[in-house]
Amino acid sequence: MQQPSTTMKPRLHPLLTFLIIFTILPGCSQPQTPHTTTRLVMGTLVTITTWNVPEAQERQGVADAFREMQRIDRLMSSHHPQSLLSTLNRAEENSTIALDPELALVIRRGVEIHQITAGAFDPELRALIRLWNFSGDQPATTPPDPQQLASVLKTQKKRKRNRLINQNPPAMSVGTGGANLDLGAIAKGYAIDRAITVLQQAGITDALVNAGGDLRILGSKGEAPWRIGIQHPRRDGEVIAVSEIRSDLAMVTSGDYERAFVHNDRRYHHILDPETGTPSDSGLISVSVQAPDAMTADALSTAFFVLGEKRSLTLLPDFPDVELLLVRSDGSLHRTAGFIATLRP
Ligand code: AMP
Ligand code: MG
Repeated sequence: MQQPSTTMKPRLHPLLTFLIIFTILPGCSQPQTPHTTTRLVMGTLVTITTWNVPEAQERQGVADAFREMQRIDRLMSSHHPQSLLSTLNRAEENSTIALDPELALVIRRGVEIHQITAGAFDPELRALIRLWNFSGDQPATTPPDPQQLASVLKTQKKRKRNRLINQNPPAMSVGTGGANLDLGAIAKGYAIDRAITVLQQAGITDALVNAGGDLRILGSKGEAPWRIGIQHPRRDGEVIAVSEIRSDLAMVTSGDYERAFVHNDRRYHHILDPETGTPSDSGLISVSVQAPDAMTADALSTAFFVLGEKRSLTLLPDFPDVELLLVRSDGSLHRTAGFIATLRP
């Protein structure tokens, strides 16, 4: 008989909230054990769990995987003034600057998802995101001044897209208005994917990389599945569903509870509708996406959150390997047929 060995509710940066991971211990007769290491990366507690790996190999592989995530953060963070992304954002308008191939890859995927999702996902929202300031050192507790918001939104809409999709490294042309990149809704997924690749390169075949609830699984956990609880969007520390996953899969959740404040009885959260410049009000409060890779799952969870249920489900056939669990604002759920989870009453 299997029993949950730990209920891991990450004690995180107070502005972040997450999934709960249950790690299952096998029956006492089996010698295998999971090995878990947790570090703060990208402002999030990241846990890497491996299964049945010799200790030295484990230690090296996991250390390399964390280093890789830190490297991605230094490239793609919009918070670090020294990141390559920040350098891009400081480039003068209508200039041509060097573009790192890896950064280009993530930007291009972001632009591609921007196009498929009719703009709901937008990797060029930096000015709006800074104005709302949900994740700065001193996050906002009130909405921005409406006039200022209208002005930033107007500039945002006037801005010519930088046509990054047509630019190939090593150079990128920055269009009118300069670059306005924020990869906060996709870079973490990419970092998770890279961590998984590094673990694989270290010969590790069975692992879980969990970055504050956004995760990817590699291989299996012996006879047992990896058990992952999906955070209840309104009850801290409770789950709405538990996923028992037995093979490679990524799962990412975007929720209005993650970074938010309440002002005059109204909740304001960090997922912005690029059309209105305000927190998305699509009728969804949480979107979990299961997909083969974490970068796609990350971008799509944000996009579907903004699109709302009807438009998301219309778009879903464009993504054959993607499954969804949607939580509506009244707490009711919609789950696509292939989404792996047992719902909690
Ligand atoms: P996530 O938690 O993955 O849904 O990403 C939310 C983060 O992505 C925010 O904190 C912003 O940095 C950024 N963001 C907010 N709204 C959008 C949007 N509509 N498209 C792309 N990125 C966004
Ligand atoms: Mg995302």
